[in-house]
Amino acid sequence: MFIIFGWEKEEYDKINFTQCYCYNCSEVKRWVLHTEVEWVSFFAIKTVPFLIKRNVYCERCGDSINIANLKYMSLNKSPALIIDYIECTQFAKKNDTQKSYLIEKRQQSEQNMNDRL
Ligand SMILES: [Zn+2]
Repeated sequence: MFIIFGWEKEEYDKINFTQCYCYNCSEVKRWVLHTEVEWVSFFAIKTVPFLIKRNVYCERCGDSINIANLKYMSLNKSPALIIDYIECTQFAKKNDTQKSYLIEKRQQSEQNMNDRL
């Protein structure tokens, strides 16, 4: 008796995952959830999800943020928590001066939008 096993990789995008302000391209944009799953297969049947990788990326500029599996579960698919996570992760790469500048730029942008309405 012999067993045929292998690996199969599956990738998919959830286009309308969330929408929020991107501090990289300075606009409110859609963020896409990209998921990669590596399966262990037996006789060409996907059996065990061995490795799952998730990241979200800005649809406009492509700024990508990895979401570890435990973090993804803790976000509990809550849009508010996901938006906070995206903002915190984008800010983690910036110093205080850059953060102040980006917040001011966002406020000006929102003010301009309100003035047009
Ligand atoms: Zn962007």
